[in-house]
Amino acid sequence: MTNDCNKSVQDGQAAVERIRKPLAWERRQGYLDRAVAGGLEPFVARWAPEWAGEFRGYAGWGVEARKEAVEKALRALGEEKTVPEAFRGTAGAVLEAPEATVGTAVPGSQAKGAARAPEKKAVAPTEEAGLAPEDPVTVLPALGPKRGAALRALGIQSVGDLLLHTPRDWQDRSRLKSVAELQDGELATVQVRVLSSVNFRTRNRMTITEVGLQDATGALCAVYFNQPFQQRRFQPGALVVLSGRMELRNRRRQMSNPEAEALPEGGDEALVHTGRIVPLYSLGKELSQRIFRSAVWQALPALERMAEPLPKGLREARAFPGLAEALRRLHFPESLADLEPSRRRMAFQELLLLSLALAQKKLKEAERSAPRFGEGDLPERLLAALPFTLTGAQEKVWREIRADLGKPKPMRRLLQGDVGSGKTVVSALALAAAVGAGWQGAIMAPTEILAEQHLKTLRRLLEPLGVEVLSLTQAQKGKGRKEVLAHLASGQPLVAVGTQALIQKGVTFGKLGLVVVDEQHRFGVVQRLTLARKGQDEPHSLVMTATPIPRTLAMTVYGDLDVSVLDGLPPGRSPVETRWVPDGKRSEVWSFVHRQITEGRQAYVVVPLVDESDKAEWKAATQMVEELRLDVFPGMRVELLHGRLKQEEKEAVMEAFTSGAAPVLCATTVVEVGVDVPNASVMVVEDADRFGLAQLHQLRGRVGRGAARSYCFLLGHPKTDEGRKRLEVMVSTTDGFVIAEEDLQLRGPGEVLGTRQSGLPELKYADLVRDQALVADARQAAHEIVAVDPELKARGHEALRTAVAAGFTARLELGNA
Ligand code: ADP
Ligand code: MG
Repeated sequence: MTNDCNKSVQDGQAAVERIRKPLAWERRQGYLDRAVAGGLEPFVARWAPEWAGEFRGYAGWGVEARKEAVEKALRALGEEKTVPEAFRGTAGAVLEAPEATVGTAVPGSQAKGAARAPEKKAVAPTEEAGLAPEDPVTVLPALGPKRGAALRALGIQSVGDLLLHTPRDWQDRSRLKSVAELQDGELATVQVRVLSSVNFRTRNRMTITEVGLQDATGALCAVYFNQPFQQRRFQPGALVVLSGRMELRNRRRQMSNPEAEALPEGGDEALVHTGRIVPLYSLGKELSQRIFRSAVWQALPALERMAEPLPKGLREARAFPGLAEALRRLHFPESLADLEPSRRRMAFQELLLLSLALAQKKLKEAERSAPRFGEGDLPERLLAALPFTLTGAQEKVWREIRADLGKPKPMRRLLQGDVGSGKTVVSALALAAAVGAGWQGAIMAPTEILAEQHLKTLRRLLEPLGVEVLSLTQAQKGKGRKEVLAHLASGQPLVAVGTQALIQKGVTFGKLGLVVVDEQHRFGVVQRLTLARKGQDEPHSLVMTATPIPRTLAMTVYGDLDVSVLDGLPPGRSPVETRWVPDGKRSEVWSFVHRQITEGRQAYVVVPLVDESDKAEWKAATQMVEELRLDVFPGMRVELLHGRLKQEEKEAVMEAFTSGAAPVLCATTVVEVGVDVPNASVMVVEDADRFGLAQLHQLRGRVGRGAARSYCFLLGHPKTDEGRKRLEVMVSTTDGFVIAEEDLQLRGPGEVLGTRQSGLPELKYADLVRDQALVADARQAAHEIVAVDPELKARGHEALRTAVAAGFTARLELGNA
């Protein structure tokens, strides 16, 4: 069992000498804890970590107890000229070696218990056994009880939690620059001494802190603006490490707002913070890097006792370092090359735990029972009544869904289909199957507009077959609402269409057999499951999304769902022709739109009101609409659709556009999702670079829904590279999956899905963009494990089981029955 950070410990004699001398010195001085700067305890933790427990709290002990510990250690060292076995062995052996040489009458724990009482009791409960991962973090001398709250805020309660709080960054202090070496404009780290530190106020009432600093080669000045507290952080005479950009100002070297950390003077603690690659952590305001780093350093001995969740076989096949080694290297790397292998190991572990939790969840759900929609010919009758035949893709997906619905266990299926691929009719077939078998079906949409549209479509498709379709919205009040609720509760077979109103308190389904959630990415998993719980029986669920989810994301976020893909569009559609138009050619766009309208087509103009509550944006958007009405489309009916309209107003606007009465619809992104007006063939997006890729794709999906050739004009001149890239992607492809992958590259997974609302678990180590292979590998490994040991009860899986439960199960179960 080697440990890299303490190579010197294994260097045998040298290490022994290193702690023997200070111990002897401590004895000579009468156990006053003055033998080494910073105290004996951190010193022992550094050089003989296995003995850290024996000296923990040393500074606070009485002289008798100190004497006991020092003498015991000296005797152990005296007898074994080389490194005692204790330093290398397991935790058990650690206790044995020094113990055997104490010479008390009775070996073993009793003797130890008697030897150091009573002072030690106040120090740490598990002191005798050495530092354990379960120990409260506050036993670490660097922290103490007062910092408990600040640590809890970071989710750190135990020593193990602390060790798992790995650095956000590292700073290489092994090769610090000297002040004289610094070039103008260079980003650098220097170690300097504080000469002076003053605050003064400028005429325009700004507080400036000026700190004079120097090293052996020259002087440097640090300047902070409007942070008066900085003045007190720099005590004249103190040693600090400073990182920032050095600039020459009037031939004076200056750093503005540099990061600074005070260093301990000499002694061994200094070795933790200087002359090496030091970790930097994400910390609240209350904790300093230095204190936290010292605490982690003191906690290192507990690493060896942390349970290793990765089974040996998995680890060895991938040549991963063990947990202890990986964490040690992440906290205190010997070189920057230590970092990536350790991160990868942690990332794999994280993905494996997540995949296991998902696989287990899936297994558990498969045990539940659900209604079988066996009998009934409603779906067939619906198919026969459709004005078109299903596309091959629709037929394939419907077969998959139909097979699920015929089984007595709940379907959990994700239906991915690009905008316009025809998901609605597929969901109508499933809803028909539910009602035909005597059950209720519900379909939930993300917006009122979309719910309204579904209501119309489903009424058109299902009412002729004698199926009752009713709606539940936020706006419904009073008697009407009561009637709807009573109807749902009665359990009578029907289809309910609604928004989030469907999952509100007081809404109960008497006999819910199927839940369809449209545009899944807009709902949290939690919400989806709350809805699924409304009935007494477990209903089937079908979630539909038009935002294609990149494979890696689908595997991690929806790993517990089966996936169907609707690829291809209904016949007769040609891809939307997309142009990115420079400002100078706007008028050409408008004349093109005019021509389309004269040919009987309709147009959307999307205005860039990204945040409807932003006043300035609001004003700009309304102005733009006025211009369109007066200058661009004079004499034409131009309707405006935005999120602030009342429900009836929205309905009226949509009605005017759907019926063709209004040829132009000016809209904010409320039209982004689902709106289906096949006669609309042009879309103009103002300031297109301000929208995200997924959003642009959704917007563009509003056209190209009929037989007519369709066009999308993206106006705007991007200010950022990313904005330009987005427009280029939009022009180059209409494939939602390609766009989704690009989006992932540009924005990262958290943004693509919206971490909180999507249920995407927060991943600390894995990067879903860079680690795609690792995601697949971990998922595969998880499936192999679950196939033979679904409950992780086999030998060698104990730590894995605990880690899965602690890490992800709880979060995935949120809102689950
Ligand atoms: P989305 O998948 O974006 O929800 P919709 O379900 O709204 O797409 O369907 C888009 C349009 O295509 C609708 O007008 C719908 O009636 C039509 N449609 C769906 N399936 C077919 C088909 N097989 N053949 C022809 N048109 C279809
Ligand atoms: Mg749709």
